[in-house]
Amino acid sequence: MIQQTLVIFKPSAVERGLVGRVLARFEAKGLSITGMKMMRLSLEILKEHYAHLVDRPFFPSIVASMTASPVIVMCLKGVDAIQVVRSMTGDTNGRTAAPGTIRGDFSMSNQENIIHASSSPEDAEAEIERFFRPDELFDYTPGAIRFINAASELNPHN
Ligand code: ADP
Repeated sequence: MIQQTLVIFKPSAVERGLVGRVLARFEAKGLSITGMKMMRLSLEILKEHYAHLVDRPFFPSIVASMTASPVIVMCLKGVDAIQVVRSMTGDTNGRTAAPGTIRGDFSMSNQENIIHASSSPEDAEAEIERFFRPDELFDYTPGAIRFINAASELNPHN
């Protein structure tokens, strides 16, 4: 199924100059960028985005980390994009994330782990709405699409 997913290039990517290298992986994989912007994250939006962690003792540390610099938020589209991007991202802790994944290759940390990626269709939908206005998202089909997916994979009934 064609899906859209939300990726945040965290301050650990922006400050370490890793945005281009990580984005190049997504482009090379065959995902399309449908939205992209730089922004500073507010405490309010972080409380929503990390609602499942607000009561954890390390939440203030996450807030400090995510507000240390602007971030880049991105919407990526492709067949099964949510799972594809999560697999490319790797486990939360960069030290134990598999080599070949973004966190496994670029992170030594549980917190400073380069990107956020939506974990389910429900989360992806809510997160895209949280970070993008409708007019900031662009629906287009790349000219090379037939070399990225078979027609049968692009069928909406698949
Ligand atoms: P993921 O980002 O892999 O979906 P979680 O939703 O569990 O993982 O956590 C969200 C983010 O909070 C992580 O990416 C990481 O930056 C931070 N985090 C999670 N657990 C810890 C922890 N124990 N200490 C510090 N930061 C953490």
